[in-house]
Amino acid sequence: MSRGRLITRLVGRLAALLSGGSRDEGIYRTAVRCGRCGEEIPVRVDLSRELTPTYGEQEGAYHVRKGVVGSGENRCFRTLVVRLTFDREKEVVGREVKGGSFVDGEPLDEPS
Ligand SMILES: [Zn+2]
Repeated sequence: MSRGRLITRLVGRLAALLSGGSRDEGIYRTAVRCGRCGEEIPVRVDLSRELTPTYGEQEGAYHVRKGVVGSGENRCFRTLVVRLTFDREKEVVGREVKGGSFVDGEPLDEPS
């Protein structure tokens, strides 16, 4: 392989790393807004590590419950509790947040 082609390959690989590339596979992202100070707090769920199988009568195949706290810039340290429900394909089928709201719209499980 020529030196030029090798460098092209390395640059391509570096670009993929910087842009996030395949590392973002299996990550569910959303954001919530604090009900007290209005700060937007990103929420990130690793679908291969953080999901808990759901047993019994409950809806969905997996769920995750996360406590998220803002940066503290607004001198607000309220913890928002996010609960997400997933089906077998790890698609979100339900979600709720205590202490705030989802930035990207209404909860999925609320009839409109
Ligand atoms: Zn807050």
